[in-house]
Amino acid sequence: MRGRRLPADARGVKTPQAQPLHAGANRERILAYEDAHRGGDLRHRVYFMVRGADVFAGFKAAGVYTGFGDEWVRVGGVKFAADGSASERTMRMSTPYVGTNDYGILTMTQKEIFESVEDAHRHDFQVGVHANGDVAIDMVLKAYEHVLGRWPAPDRRHRIEHCSLVTDDLLRPSLWCRSSSCRPLRLRARCRRWSRQWS
Ligand SMILES: [Zn+2]
Repeated sequence: MRGRRLPADARGVKTPQAQPLHAGANRERILAYEDAHRGGDLRHRVYFMVRGADVFAGFKAAGVYTGFGDEWVRVGGVKFAADGSASERTMRMSTPYVGTNDYGILTMTQKEIFESVEDAHRHDFQVGVHANGDVAIDMVLKAYEHVLGRWPAPDRRHRIEHCSLVTDDLLRPSLWCRSSSCRPLRLRARCRRWSRQWS
């Protein structure tokens, strides 16, 4: 079916060799990519992360996992979210926001992170968990350390999305091999913005 709205990132990009990651594609977005691909309108390759429990359940039921697709549209991982954001002052930290007793919020418990990561990992999915604060990042790393220790998959490259507040004790081997949607340059720019916003 034509006419579905193509995500902004897939319009106007002229470099077909690029393969942007869409970190959180729901059913409409996935269909839009497929339609654009079939119609010859897609301007770059797409590696998307599945978002939404019902959509992910459908992929698992169909026996589809990370890597399925072709050179233009490919199933990446599955995306979960463990805490809030840095810009909204809701990421979950080990120390409170300056001048408050507010440590930020978690949107998943440690048990839920363990269960979700294990389920996805054992269904051969790459996992990307949105985690900004150091507490949330640590919880996600523990889950990755657990599943990769028990069911090794060296090429799976589970991700931490954003990975904003990295403290010294998070600099452990399980973090080194994580790819992340937060690039160091962007992080530097964010820190400047945060210091302006919070001072
Ligand atoms: Zn996110």
